[in-house]
Formats: sequence, C-alpha cells, structure tokens
Amino acid sequence: MARLALVTGGTRGIGRAISVALRDAGYRVVANYGGNDEAAAKFTEETGIPARKWDVGDFPATEAAIAAIVAEYGPVDIVVNNAGITRDATLHRMSPEMWEQVVRTNLSSCFNTSRLVIESMRERGFGRIVNIGSINGQAGQYGQVNYAAAKSGIHGFTKALAQEGAARGVTVNAIAPGYVDTEMVRAVPPAVLEKIIARIPAGRLGHAEDIARAVLFLVADDADFITGSTISVNGGQHMY
Ligand code: NDP
Repeated sequence: MARLALVTGGTRGIGRAISVALRDAGYRVVANYGGNDEAAAKFTEETGIPARKWDVGDFPATEAAIAAIVAEYGPVDIVVNNAGITRDATLHRMSPEMWEQVVRTNLSSCFNTSRLVIESMRERGFGRIVNIGSINGQAGQYGQVNYAAAKSGIHGFTKALAQEGAARGVTVNAIAPGYVDTEMVRAVPPAVLEKIIARIPAGRLGHAEDIARAVLFLVADDADFITGSTISVNGGQHMY
C-alpha cells in the first residue's frame, strides 16, 4: 500500500500545495487544519483529500486525532509539520498571549505530532518528518520575536530528533521557506512587501509549489541518507 502522509495545516497555502503534490506523487494523504471549515470543505471537494480538524498545539487533541487516523488508514509514515501562525508586534508591544500562541502553534505542535508517531515509525524502521521552519527563524525579523524564536526552535528540534531517528530509518529534516505568496504574506502591508521583494535575488515571492517540491525530495524512500538538514527555499534571500 502507498505510504500515508499527514500534513498539518494542509488545507491552505503552502500546506495545500504539499498535500496536493504528495497525492500527485502517489502517496495517501490526510490533511489537518485548525478552524476554517469552509476552506477545508472546499479543499476536500477540489482535491479528494480528507481533512481533519484539530488544534495541533493541543497534545490530547492531537493524540485523539492521530489515533482516529491510524484506525482508519493505518500507521503514519510521513509527517509534514507545516501548521503555523504569526502574531506580529515589537517585543515592547507583544502580549504574553501573542508569545504563547505562536510558540504553541509553530513549535509545540512539532513535539505533539512527532511524539505521537515516532514510536510506531521506530518500530517499523521507516519514517519521514519534515518541519516547516522559516527564513525568519534563521535570520530573525523585526516585529517577530515570537515567530523567529519558534521557527529557530524548529531547526534545533529537527537536528536533535534526526540524531535519535537515524539508526531506525526515521529521517527528520526542515525546510526554511523565504517569503511565499500565501494569505500569511498577503497580511504584510504592501509597502513592506515591496521592500522585501527588492531584497530577493530571484526577484519574486516564492510559490507554495516551490516548497512542496522540496518536501517531495525529502520524503522519498531513497532520501534515507538525508537527515538533520535544513533546505532553504528562498530565492537566494538568505544563505545560511
Ligand atoms: P496559511 O496561513 O496560508 O495556512 C496556515 C495553515 O495552518 C492553515 O491550514 C491553518 O488552518 C493551519 N493552522 C493554523 N493554526 C493551526 C492550529 N492551531 N492547528 C491546526 N492547524 C492550524 O500559512 P502558510 O501556508 O503561509 O504557512 C505554512 C507554514 O509555512 C507555516 O508554518 C508558516 O510559518 C511557514 N512559512 C510561511 C512563509 C510564507 O511566506 N507564507 C514563509 C516561511 C515560513 P485553518 O485553515 O483552519 O486556519
């Protein structure tokens, strides 16, 4: 049977492109989402990919959801930890809630999902975990202390878990996208976005499909010697 992939935040933006690319490459895919039922229903209607709603920052909710997925489809072979949010403000204006929400959704989610699939992956001698970091976790970004810390944490998480999984066939890698044309980036004021694009040597924002292509590369069965890496997909904006 084809390998089963779980994509968190897999119904919109970059996650949607990842879900579709995996489906097109022959994987079985389940997409998670957080609350936008309308977008999720449209996604399933258009792609035929099932969508499951839960908050990836909530461990018990993730546990229940993954148990239900395993009961329905069998063990999860591939996890793409993609769900993420921003709550931007300079630190002197950032509330504890803005910090907490961002760290929880972007970073604790990687613990929650990975923790709940890792034992089965280790037992079966195969697993692929791909964590979506960010250029802003590599380089920092004004107004994003919370997001940069969470994304930077993803890169450390990836390298540590990669060491634990390597001898058991479980690879763990990260992708650090640059600015990609999704709703998250459309929320950036146009004047700021113009300045950002001017700093991208490729001269354009990324497409969600650019990120999906890197995911496909990392999850392949024969990518088994690639672990603990971060692939930057950013049009040359930051070379790390
Ligand atoms: P979008 O805002 O377009 O989509 C976010 C997705 O995550 C949605 O499916 C959303 O579900 C889901 N989500 C959000 N919160 C939760 C939650 N608590 N539980 C479950 N699902 C949740 O984001 P992008 O596609 O732009 O970003 C995808 C990833 O890429 C993120 O991790 C982001 O940080 C990262 N990234 C994005 C960049 C960009 O330029 N766009 C640049 C660098 C990194 P719902 O539809 O229900 O809201």
